[in-house]
Amino acid sequence: MDRRLFVQALALPCFAARAADADARFTVEARFYEKQPYKKIKCKLCPRECVIDDRERGYCGARENRGGTYYSLVWARVCAAHVDPIEKKPLFHFLPGSSAFSVATAGCNVNCKFCQNWDISQIRPEQVSSTYIPPKDLAALTRRNGCRSIAYTYSEPVVFCEYVLDSAEAGRAAGVKSVVISGGYVQEEPLKQLCRRVDAIKIDHKGFSEKYFKEVVNGELKPVLNALATIRKLGTWCEVVYLVVPALNDSDEEFRALARWIKTELGPDVPLHFSRFYPEYLLKNLPPTPLPALERAKAICDAEGLHYVYIGNVPGHPAESTWCPKCRRVVVERAGFTVRAVHLDKGKCHFCQQAIPGIWEG
Ligand code: SF4
Ligand code: SF4
Repeated sequence: MDRRLFVQALALPCFAARAADADARFTVEARFYEKQPYKKIKCKLCPRECVIDDRERGYCGARENRGGTYYSLVWARVCAAHVDPIEKKPLFHFLPGSSAFSVATAGCNVNCKFCQNWDISQIRPEQVSSTYIPPKDLAALTRRNGCRSIAYTYSEPVVFCEYVLDSAEAGRAAGVKSVVISGGYVQEEPLKQLCRRVDAIKIDHKGFSEKYFKEVVNGELKPVLNALATIRKLGTWCEVVYLVVPALNDSDEEFRALARWIKTELGPDVPLHFSRFYPEYLLKNLPPTPLPALERAKAICDAEGLHYVYIGNVPGHPAESTWCPKCRRVVVERAGFTVRAVHLDKGKCHFCQQAIPGIWEG
């Protein structure tokens, strides 16, 4: 029995008491679903399209059918909140050196075997302690903590989409930006609404084969590619992360296919981060990614013509910094999550005036 089934089985005996105790403050009607006969509903938030009977929940455990109306149970139900450098997300072409007020609610619509946050992503909202932080308070907290953005992160923001949309709006009114850190397993309409309200999206690409998505992520590759293309089309700032897992998604062919797809569909200026894997959750049997595998991935993608290929989770590596693709000088110098120097003049390389895409000011 995997962890998700185990915790769901544990939760069953207390279902009635839990439903009665559910805090109404956290419950809002879901925005992306269809009503069906016999009080069923079909969720239209992610490609899983769960069809749910009355009093049941979808796969993510964060949404519940009550009498034929579908509800999010995680609106403003914050189970993790930290001030993080934006470089930790990672977003490298977005207000470098700034801090992001980072929040999560419980639940996820996939189950990655390498998940570092499985203790909040693979459980139900009532199984973790949470704090009520409505959108205006979240925006105010963000400012009070000296952060320039709210980051929706750690678990999967798609499953707390209503809270993200409302908070991004409150943030905008208060002068703070919003960034979404997601696996990109989302349907087009909610994604379009997210793109209109937030300032940047980082997609964890995970792998470049359906087999890997099926066996390691319990999701699908195609909808993630569609999501990336939609984000690009709508012009929301986007960066891509690929966690390199030894023996599972580290072949030259996958790196090359990824680079070619990004170059063709998104363009060569979209930053791509190859991130080092550390043994975690259901993949404790594997070693950390060897540095040569990350450098090989970068070399392949550089050769394919991508302009901004980074290596992550290797503090001090030169590929943590942003290099101008024209004059080959460092324009943003990083060491770990620290920004040591920025050599940009209004988004252009200080040395040769080449435009470097990103959100550098504001
Ligand atoms: S968001 Fe949750 S309930 Fe909706 S389709 Fe995805 S997993 Fe199912
Ligand atoms: S999408 Fe993110 S939060 Fe969800 S299981 Fe995968 S790594 Fe964990």
